[in-house]
Amino acid sequence: MQFYLDEPTARTSWRLAILTGVNTRTYKFALGSALLEVGQTGREVVPLRELASRYAAHLVNRAEPTHQAPPGTVGERDFLAILGQERNASIASGEPTDRLVDAAVRSIPTMVMQKFHNLRVTGAVAHTFYALSGDGTNRSVRLSPELRNIATDPGVLADELAARWAIVEASFAASIGRGLVQGGVDIDGELSTLVTPVRRVAVTSIRGAIAGFQHGRCFYCGQPMEDLSTEVQVDHVFPFIWMNTGSWRGPNLNHVWNLVLACAPCNLAKSDRRPTTAEVERLVRRNDVIASSPHPLRRTIEITMDATGARAAQHRRRFMLDVVNHVSDRR
Ligand SMILES: [Zn+2]
Repeated sequence: MQFYLDEPTARTSWRLAILTGVNTRTYKFALGSALLEVGQTGREVVPLRELASRYAAHLVNRAEPTHQAPPGTVGERDFLAILGQERNASIASGEPTDRLVDAAVRSIPTMVMQKFHNLRVTGAVAHTFYALSGDGTNRSVRLSPELRNIATDPGVLADELAARWAIVEASFAASIGRGLVQGGVDIDGELSTLVTPVRRVAVTSIRGAIAGFQHGRCFYCGQPMEDLSTEVQVDHVFPFIWMNTGSWRGPNLNHVWNLVLACAPCNLAKSDRRPTTAEVERLVRRNDVIASSPHPLRRTIEITMDATGARAAQHRRRFMLDVVNHVSDRR
């Protein structure tokens, strides 16, 4: 993975753990936040209960417990169910309730601590940040020098973690997580709704998620997008109108692979013109980022482009070249 080879440091391992891998819950973001906190204290060992309490506190502070998992996946014995029950009392007292911390102590060793260092595609990261020791109620967490080192100056890492958490949360909140994982999504002709096998939700709700894959910038001019609700528009890089000509035999242009966010002036100026070579290349790279992320949009990209497995990046590039050729053929 190039991202890692460029800079094989503990910070890169941390980024891989946070930015890649599978998200069926947002737990690793809560664990990461708690680790950065305890790492800053300089201590080598902390009680598991303290880490669990900080972990629970970060989850309590999210706006919606139900947005921490794909809809319909939280059972009544789930930690998130207990979080929902204990959240108000925890906020009122300024710290997680004992019942919530108890549940966290029970669940985090297997639910999240075992998984944090292990990535789906590349295996374990090269640096570890903690190790569990002891058993029963006396379990403790030994913090590695690497963790204590990166935690002394967590600035950018903390920001990245917060952004990733918000993106994954937004996708769960938009109710697209579960449907996307299985079947991908469609977006209707007016761009007013996102159609999933499960339900329909407003397309604006995925703007925040898409924005994250464009570094929060307009796809065309690169200006930072500050207000996603009004200034920013959804744009089809290959014009959607081409599909209405009756002669279009290419892939569905109304799919995530072809949708970007653009500022209003750029969207207006772009209109129905054909994308430049540079824009096509940028779209390939943007889709590569989505495809390498834990965000559920990845599955949509994979399904549309029929690109899973080791050669997926080449498939995505060929898919795009086929579209370009198709466009050339018909002009
Ligand atoms: Zn722009």
